[in-house]
Amino acid sequence: MQGQTDTTERSTLPGETRARLRAVLSDVWGYSTFRPLQEQAMAAVLERRDSLVVMPTGGGKSLCFQAPALLREGTAIVISPLISLMRDQVAQLWQAGVRAGSLHSGQPTDERRAVQEGLAVGTLKLLYLSPERIALEDPRTLLGRARLSFVAVDEAHCISMWGHDFRPEYRQIARFRELFPEADMHAYTATATPEVSRDIRRQLALQRPVELRGSFDRPNLFYSAKPRQSGIRRLFEVVRRHAGQSGIVYCITRKETDKVAGALRKEGFKAVPYHAGMEPDERRANQEAFVADSEDIVVATVAFGMGINKPDVRYVVHMGMPKSIENYQQEIGRAGRDGLPSECLLLYSLADLMMWKRIMTDVPPEQSAIAWKKLDRMYEWCSQTGCRRTRLLRHFGEEYPRQNCGMCDQCTGGHTPVPDSHTVAQKILSCAVRLGESHNAVYTTNILSGAKTAEIRGAEHHKLSTWGLLSGRPKECILDWIEQLRGQGLLAAGEGGALSVTEKGWDVLRNRATGVVMDRLRTAAAPPTSSLESLSPTDRETFERLRQLRKQIAAREKVPPYVIFGDVTLRDTARLRPRDLHEFRRIKGVGRRKLEAYGAAFLEALWRDPPPGPDALREIPRTERERRTSERRADKKRLALELFRQGELTAEIAKQIGRAVSTAEQYIVEQLREEGPLDIAPWVPEDLAAAIEEALGATRDGRLRSVFDALEGGATYLQIRLVKACMKSRGE
Ligand code: ADP
Ligand code: ZN
Repeated sequence: MQGQTDTTERSTLPGETRARLRAVLSDVWGYSTFRPLQEQAMAAVLERRDSLVVMPTGGGKSLCFQAPALLREGTAIVISPLISLMRDQVAQLWQAGVRAGSLHSGQPTDERRAVQEGLAVGTLKLLYLSPERIALEDPRTLLGRARLSFVAVDEAHCISMWGHDFRPEYRQIARFRELFPEADMHAYTATATPEVSRDIRRQLALQRPVELRGSFDRPNLFYSAKPRQSGIRRLFEVVRRHAGQSGIVYCITRKETDKVAGALRKEGFKAVPYHAGMEPDERRANQEAFVADSEDIVVATVAFGMGINKPDVRYVVHMGMPKSIENYQQEIGRAGRDGLPSECLLLYSLADLMMWKRIMTDVPPEQSAIAWKKLDRMYEWCSQTGCRRTRLLRHFGEEYPRQNCGMCDQCTGGHTPVPDSHTVAQKILSCAVRLGESHNAVYTTNILSGAKTAEIRGAEHHKLSTWGLLSGRPKECILDWIEQLRGQGLLAAGEGGALSVTEKGWDVLRNRATGVVMDRLRTAAAPPTSSLESLSPTDRETFERLRQLRKQIAAREKVPPYVIFGDVTLRDTARLRPRDLHEFRRIKGVGRRKLEAYGAAFLEALWRDPPPGPDALREIPRTERERRTSERRADKKRLALELFRQGELTAEIAKQIGRAVSTAEQYIVEQLREEGPLDIAPWVPEDLAAAIEEALGATRDGRLRSVFDALEGGATYLQIRLVKACMKSRGE
């Protein structure tokens, strides 16, 4: 994030407190640095000053209250609007080794009781509550004898009618102020408008709050928007670019949702639909499969996304235009929350604008005026030719400090001006003038391309000097150029879309300014790097292997895979190849508890062959070490036998399990014995077995080497071991 503002004085945390905060960050979450404004936000909580923190999605708001909660006495209350979000955060905290719980409606009683016990004895550091819960029950009864440290209000915009997601129950939170006046209160939101901030401050009665406001730029998102021609092909391009990774595709209608999901499946992609017309069970199953990484793509109406916390969504594609920039911002907010490069493609058409306007006819007039204006703004953003990031930020009142963002279709040169760009612009503008500034874009396109529809003939417009001026150019291009001129403010659309030429437009007609139209249909604009491309092929393979392991562990632990480790952690693991737990611990996202729980398994997956160098287990305390060593040994034994059964040479097996050949052989024999009565017949012919037995009996010391020598290489060491084990199991 750049250009974040901090409207109050910087924190002056005592050095010792800062050090403790950093220690918690590293110990529990495995992070070594703060994201912008996080430290100040945490300082406010530690200093018990009310605060209001505005940060974009993915900015790291949850940590702002979670980390200080661990350093304060008592239990922190977190109000969160969605049960799925609460569950997710509680699961994440547990995985990190933090005692947290939630109380919400529809919760099993034993779970509830466990939470209340933790609360009573004071071991619970964070308690998540739904606003409904406090509306239903007196918080004093709910909290019993618990000691409250502070109240954090997540998604605080829900308290405001100015926000996009007003929830009346949120108003109940104010009761905490009255009931627990000594507890400080902290509000977090990604909604940046001044009205919402004001409302939050007032409704929660925040006392001289520390106000922190982050930049809303999301530097890891690549933005592009294209007219919808050959939309499916463009969608496939995006999906292929992020093969095997998660993505969301938004459609305006249910019918289209099914159609697009079908098309993707037919092409071999793992895609499922999600919309309000489906059976609830099926919908839930599809969502869960997406979260669990069993399906890659969800094709959805906007109904999808609330409560989805998946941080590794690598792309969001809109097959149609959203109804406002606010909606768009929210929907693309689901891409790339982990900060890795992600892509947002919007496919639009004038038809979408018309359709929304048709859908909105029953909206009361005073609201519809605003709604239409929002639609027009959205359409302008799509069709204009300037930097998309600059325009998006400007819409939310923020100036982007650079000329070229390097991360949008316009800035990466994905589009080039058509060769005679200025003349083309003039032709279009003069056509609008000739048509008396009373016809819409489609009609104007028809005139320019030289069509002779009944309407045109009837109006005798085929006799205009501008008729057919752009014949030979594809109609969809002409239409897009008209939209570009609208987006640049050279044309304006009035009643019924009638195009008129603006002052700026006349400047171009009079050659006082240069008109530019871009060729946007043929050129593909791809992001400079996708998250996979930045890994070498070997690292990518390793990354996939680690992802598989993560998925298995997640299924066992019954949590989403990203709760185990995020993609950032797996990528760094694949790239940096930590050789032991000590090094693994240094990877971002590996806290102490996760290291202990999963470190060995990930190292194992990373090093099919053993890591070179120091003992991998030196960091683990003794008892733990012993347990792990024996677990590892058991795994290796199993693997050794399996490979042996597959006909692998012992030297090769030894390499694969990272042990000496003699150990590998010993493992094979031990494993065979563990699996049941030892039958060596498949590996040692009967007469050879007899010869080995004899040699074993004859050599005085019984050492393998002596037997081997005695048989003059007629038997392998493994065969000798097998026979020896066989005799032993017979009691000889
Ligand atoms: P928000 O609630 O603002 O949308 P989250 O709290 O969900 O964002 O955080 C987004 C992602 O960033 C999470 O995967 C989180 O673990 C990660 N994150 C947060 N703080 C840090 C940090 N200091 N260093 C590295 N990653 C962080
Ligand atoms: Zn740009």
